[in-house]
Amino acid sequence: MPEEYLKYLQSLNDRQREAACTDISTPLMIVAGPGSGKTSTMVGRVLMLLNEGISPSKILAMTFTTAAASEMRERIGSIAGKTTAKELTISTFHSFSLQLCRSHGEKLGRTSEFFIYGQGQQRNAIIEAIRLLENEKSGNKNGALLMGDLSNGLKDPKQFKDKAKKWQKFVAQAKASGRTSAEYRAMGNEIGAEILENYNNILKSCNALDYHDLISCSVMLLSEFPEVLKECQDSWKAIVIDEFQDTSGMQYKFLKILASHHKITIVGDDDQSIYSFNGADISGFRSFRNDFPNYKEIRLNKNYRSTRCIVEAASSLIQNNSKRCQLKNVLTDNSSGSKIVMKECHSEDAQCAFVVDKILEISSNHSADNCCFGNIAILYRRQVSGKAFQMAFRDRKIPFNIHGVAFYRRKVVRTIIAMLRTTLPDCDDGSYSRVFKALLPLEKDKTMKIIDHINKISTIRKCSFVSAAFDIFSAKISGTFKSELTHGRKVLMTLEMISKHIQREKSISAVITSVANMIPEKYLLEQRAITDVDGGTFLNEDYDIRSVLQYLLDDVSEFLSTKLVEVKGEREISEDKGCTFVLKAFIDYLFECERKNFRDRRRDNENSVTLTTIHQAKGLEWDVVFIVKANDSEIPLLHNFKGTLKDTAALVEEERRLLYVAMTRARQKLFILHVLMDSNWQMLQPSRFLKEIPHHLIEIQGEINLQELQIKQEALQKELTHCTTDLLVKERQSEADEVPMPHEILNNHGSETSNELAQFAEANNGNDFLRRFSVE
Ligand code: ATP
Ligand code: MG
Repeated sequence: MPEEYLKYLQSLNDRQREAACTDISTPLMIVAGPGSGKTSTMVGRVLMLLNEGISPSKILAMTFTTAAASEMRERIGSIAGKTTAKELTISTFHSFSLQLCRSHGEKLGRTSEFFIYGQGQQRNAIIEAIRLLENEKSGNKNGALLMGDLSNGLKDPKQFKDKAKKWQKFVAQAKASGRTSAEYRAMGNEIGAEILENYNNILKSCNALDYHDLISCSVMLLSEFPEVLKECQDSWKAIVIDEFQDTSGMQYKFLKILASHHKITIVGDDDQSIYSFNGADISGFRSFRNDFPNYKEIRLNKNYRSTRCIVEAASSLIQNNSKRCQLKNVLTDNSSGSKIVMKECHSEDAQCAFVVDKILEISSNHSADNCCFGNIAILYRRQVSGKAFQMAFRDRKIPFNIHGVAFYRRKVVRTIIAMLRTTLPDCDDGSYSRVFKALLPLEKDKTMKIIDHINKISTIRKCSFVSAAFDIFSAKISGTFKSELTHGRKVLMTLEMISKHIQREKSISAVITSVANMIPEKYLLEQRAITDVDGGTFLNEDYDIRSVLQYLLDDVSEFLSTKLVEVKGEREISEDKGCTFVLKAFIDYLFECERKNFRDRRRDNENSVTLTTIHQAKGLEWDVVFIVKANDSEIPLLHNFKGTLKDTAALVEEERRLLYVAMTRARQKLFILHVLMDSNWQMLQPSRFLKEIPHHLIEIQGEINLQELQIKQEALQKELTHCTTDLLVKERQSEADEVPMPHEILNNHGSETSNELAQFAEANNGNDFLRRFSVE
């Protein structure tokens, strides 16, 4: 065995080493708590597979995030050498199945260039599926009865929104569990079966797949096409999977077929399962035991990451979950460390001020902690809670990284991506519409009217947005609309220019740079303008096109240098393959980041504080962790949850696991903060989970005088009622100005958009929204 391998294996503890060195033909299950070296052991396992003569190109390692994949490749590279590491296939489920589906697109009734539908487009297809079903049933007495509640829903925006949401969830669950419409029909769920069927047909006619399809289609490819199965089985002689607890039923099915050789290692912790909303199913551990009866199970129980105080506190918390498959007794030899600081803050601003001061204190040279910014993280339940910190950090000149895809959600970045997208075959209408909105140098109202008009023409003619635009703008120039038509033509010319450019250019960076330079200054300034509290306007430096462009180019160059396409024959993405190929791969990569809500961590500045949601912090660790807004409205997040009592109980347990994951990210110091009032002066409760942490492990800092707070709250409320009438009128006005466009809604993600969606559909009687599904 090479010396480096030996050295690494020697650095593991006995159990970890036993796991890594288990006979490679034995299916292996490693179950352990956080920080016990599961991922480290998985690295050891890969080294053993290599040592046993399995070629690196025949090893498939599945991780949960692209960041984890890059990190693992680096770790293995530092031991086994970069060339070996480069040959390994280290991938996420989605990246892997995306490549498999693209390679066999025609077997799925798609081209290899199929679209991947995000939340917005899925919702759109659901609406269309409901409408189709309604049309089908109308006139039919039984059908009308059957569809009664749907029809009512479509008339009422609120109900409409709920229905669309409900069916979207239904379709997602159906796909994650692998149920077919025939199965729903057999179960007596006729409506469900039809909606699922309609939805699938719509996606097929649009040459699209959604996120769940990627996995289910991969399973279908393996089970129905023996040649695909053979190709994959020949390709992957051994499989290792990290974070197994977050594997869905479908993903497990996929693994089971692929691992018929039984050379499979799974690594996970059921207590850290936090993706059940995404179909993750911890019953996978049980299935593994049944499907691979000669399996070996190894438990690791020593936590190397955190102080004893943190380990004990987290263990006490998780013991309150009744549904745990594998009880673990996590121990540590680490020192007890300092107590967990629990702090009550009267507002989010106060919370922010506390955190900023604390960070400056612990990072100062004079502090005993002397902890650098890179070893500090702020974790929150929802992305929105990070905003105040970004502002405060900017003010106090504290460098920070935001994990997530916030950058790619900026309008200007979306515009650049949409402009690039128009050069790809089958570009969607939403991208064209976004490009016109950005490039037309007209007043907002006029631009909207033009876009509405293009939409209308494309509905009437049943053609794409861009061909409708082409028809309109190539009309003979007449007096009244001369300037609009000229501008429209210019946009079409710009699109043509981009398209030619991408065919000619070799460097994707050069294309991106020239595309960014085509965006009008007026649009850029609008995007950068921020109105402060006094009504003054200033320009947001972060949104300056040069910094946006630099960031984008850095991402592309990093993508080119590190990202590998895990498909045989197309192992490496290189610019030699041409701009269109690279662009397509980059857009797929962005899709995956967006899906996982994760940007590659390696891009982060090492000496910056990390701001991230708890979900994104999975598998990571920092010396100092602040869990902020640990309130009952956040953890558990039960807003508008309308499940049964049983569902609620399950959700509460998942939320407890979420706090458990958050707490166990800390190595040395843990701060847990909660606020007493939200920005609307509503009183909030601390998270119900906080009282489950033993008292002796907590240091409570600066309790608030509740009476004082109440007086303050009443005074503020009074002040607020006096001065807000004007403000509210202004706000409503500006909201009205911001009428969302269909593609804005389509491109948006998250529940906050569903309201807009319902309003829009109501205002447009659903038509404009749905027209994109009309058959050309
Ligand atoms: P999580 O559940 O959060 O994913 P994990 O079980 O995968 O955690 P690792 O990330 O592999 O744990 O390891 C946690 C920390 O413990 C890392 O800093 C790692 O370097 C260290 N560690 C793991 N095993 C050992 C060991 N045998 N000796 C010393 N340090 C170790
Ligand atoms: Mg891990």
